[in-house]
Amino acid sequence: MGNHVQPPRKGDGVALNIVMLGPPGAGKGTQAERLAGRHGLPKISTGDILREAVQSGTELGLAAKVTMEAGNLVSDDVMIGIVHERLTRDDAARGFVLDGFPRTVVQATALDGMMEGRGPLVVLDISVPEEVLVRRLAARRICGRCGANAAVEWTDTCGKCGGALVTRVDDGVEVVRERLKVFLRQTKPLVDYYSRRPTFRSINGNQPPDVVSGAIESALRDACGSAAL
Ligand SMILES: [Zn+2]
Repeated sequence: MGNHVQPPRKGDGVALNIVMLGPPGAGKGTQAERLAGRHGLPKISTGDILREAVQSGTELGLAAKVTMEAGNLVSDDVMIGIVHERLTRDDAARGFVLDGFPRTVVQATALDGMMEGRGPLVVLDISVPEEVLVRRLAARRICGRCGANAAVEWTDTCGKCGGALVTRVDDGVEVVRERLKVFLRQTKPLVDYYSRRPTFRSINGNQPPDVVSGAIESALRDACGSAAL
């Protein structure tokens, strides 16, 4: 796998292969986007590539479509195939920021296989205390004008269109707490799988977004050496 990906040329520095982990409400998507922007890397989120695979009508895309239309989760095999396809494109040869993959240890093991010859995989886990997440998620706001999700605590206007933010009413505290518990239980094996690696870093996500971004940059430098940055 991955043998048609060119290794980084000498002088180009090391490829930045990044996986972002973290529960809903931790700000992972926002940080993944910022991180990708700062380093000129593609941000690869599973939602986006699934949609794209379905639209493109490839064999894997069709398999995903059938599964999702039946209301089921896309299988490890299909997810792995779609991510593998995406990572072998030119724009990911110098690295990537993965958001939403891997979700399972099976997917993580497959990703390790794809990384052969591509340099180290840096895993950033955005960590936020459970009670803070519950508060954030239960108060999650959307833009009243365009419907975009808002970063919760730091602004009253939409980052996309400037519209006023309104509180979503469907997120009761108990529902949020239960959803979070399920997520944490399901993803714990994944965190365990990665957490003893020298390139794993836990990031304190209970800070303003700019401070979190700074912490991510320090962790990256620390994890792969300042030469690449
Ligand atoms: Zn808006």
